[in-house]
Amino acid sequence: MNPVEANLKHIKQLIADYEKKYNRPPGSVHLVAVSKGQPVDDIVEALATGQTAFGENHLQEALPKIEMLKDKKIEWHFIGSIQSNKTRKIAAHFAWVEGVANEKIAQRLNDQRSEHLPPLNICIEVNISHEASKSGVSNDEVESLANFCLTLPRLKLRGLMCIPAEEADLEKQRCTFRKLTSLYQQLNQKGFKLDCLSMGMSHDFEAAIAEGATLVRIGRAIFGPRHSP
Ligand SMILES: *Cc1c(COP(=O)(O)O)cnc(C)c1O
Repeated sequence: MNPVEANLKHIKQLIADYEKKYNRPPGSVHLVAVSKGQPVDDIVEALATGQTAFGENHLQEALPKIEMLKDKKIEWHFIGSIQSNKTRKIAAHFAWVEGVANEKIAQRLNDQRSEHLPPLNICIEVNISHEASKSGVSNDEVESLANFCLTLPRLKLRGLMCIPAEEADLEKQRCTFRKLTSLYQQLNQKGFKLDCLSMGMSHDFEAAIAEGATLVRIGRAIFGPRHSP
């Protein structure tokens, strides 16, 4: 077994274990393998194990990979912060954008999403740890951006995502994720039909699953240290 295959198997087992440990339905947590900074060969190895969702955050790095793998059945997630001059290519080549943080980007993605493709799945990024260095809307801006996204027919609003400040302690990690879960539940109580709570990375996905994540984005624990950007 190559290392990518072995790591993926291990991570999928952990996800299943945590679903059980925290009373989550089996199969309720989806895995996006974050392949940014990793070679195409590693993506091919992951594909061979049946993994189909991959995450990239640098457009220049992602486009050649997407081109090389265009014959494979891959669901590409754009997980980085988005500059407005990049939206056209993101709308053309990705199935998901996790990290919509303002109306202008949402509008551009909508206008540039081809009629020949299904609506672009999006998550709104919430700056849950209130870090000046991070993108994402504040808690009280989420609902208005969510309402705006509902007016855009080429986008499909799926849920919320966050990238919390790094924290080693499981209870503290859970406390932060709980805030995003609570926002997500509030929106669904108001009639939004969100089905995606994207939270949890290599170092904190147990806490995220404990708090209700439906999608975890894991890179280094699958592919090892990143090589490029
Ligand atoms: C890089 C990245 C990840 C994966 O991080 P790892 O620590 O490698 O698991 C997840 N989400 C986003 C938004 C990222 O940029």
